[in-house]
Amino acid sequence: TASLLEVTQLQTQFKTSDGLVPSVNRISFTVEAGETLALVGESGSGKSVTSLSIMGLIAEPGRIAGGEVRLDGVDLLQLSRREMRRLRGSKLSIIFQEPMTSLNPVFRVGRQIAEVIRKHEKVDKREAHRRSVDMLEKVGISGAERIAASYPHQLSGGMRQRVMIAIALACRPKLLIADEPTTALDVTIQAQILTLIRALSQEANTGVILITHDLGVVAEMADRVAVMYAGEIVEQAPVNDLFDRPMHPYTVGLMNSLPRLRERRDRLDAIPGMVPSLLELPQGCPFHPRCAYAEDRCRQIKPELLEHAPGHLASCHRAEEVKR
Ligand code: SF4
Ligand code: MG
Repeated sequence: TASLLEVTQLQTQFKTSDGLVPSVNRISFTVEAGETLALVGESGSGKSVTSLSIMGLIAEPGRIAGGEVRLDGVDLLQLSRREMRRLRGSKLSIIFQEPMTSLNPVFRVGRQIAEVIRKHEKVDKREAHRRSVDMLEKVGISGAERIAASYPHQLSGGMRQRVMIAIALACRPKLLIADEPTTALDVTIQAQILTLIRALSQEANTGVILITHDLGVVAEMADRVAVMYAGEIVEQAPVNDLFDRPMHPYTVGLMNSLPRLRERRDRLDAIPGMVPSLLELPQGCPFHPRCAYAEDRCRQIKPELLEHAPGHLASCHRAEEVKR
């Protein structure tokens, strides 16, 4: 049977004064209903561009140059802007990092949730209000009536992010994209919000794409993981397989820069070097300038993304030798 979301050979480019930059270079992955797929990588790896491409939010100078994004069998890339607008907030929702920029400062938050509900469902104002208070309770807000009557600036960052989650989930989307949803929040609230997203998505059988640079978050939240580097997926696996036996040196580098592990070491084992400019990717494996495993063939032949174990893909010539 078909997956909830099937992304095939998605390619998104940006026009710059130096030429076309392939920000997302022919990536493919799926998300099942009720499943959380984590997209992991450093900033500039293409995670956010991937989510914006799925949401139909790529704007000039960016453009989608190829591929398919099928949600319930419908290729979103073939829909008009108007059709996409209708899908966003009904079948498809996104939570961004900074909730202040997505909430309207001049309306009470209850009204903002109610409007989202009324945009997609035929319910009267009263019912929409009742549902919005309901949603606020669901995202763990006590005194939901009072919060519904508040303006965004009257709420804390954690509270605003809960409101954003309430808005994103108000219409029971089939797919939720959470782009670094808790990065701006303190650690305790981060954990609460992530647990909440997971519980709500399981309850409604929502597929989730969780975008993060933090493998600690991945370990807690994800069913499967796709690791991105320089606009491509370099490793993909069920979460336990990834942590038990990573098959790409970049993934190992990300693991070794986990804060939890850092405490037990006296040296910070971060990955040396930087994500390469997508305009001048090195020949061969794009990771070779930073890779401790690099050898001659790596500098010449680009590795393909191959399945090394069931559901476990990696693009590395030495995938079988990689040690955590
Ligand atoms: Fe490192 Fe070579 Fe594997 Fe690239 S192909 S990640 S350079 S070992
Ligand atoms: Mg980002």
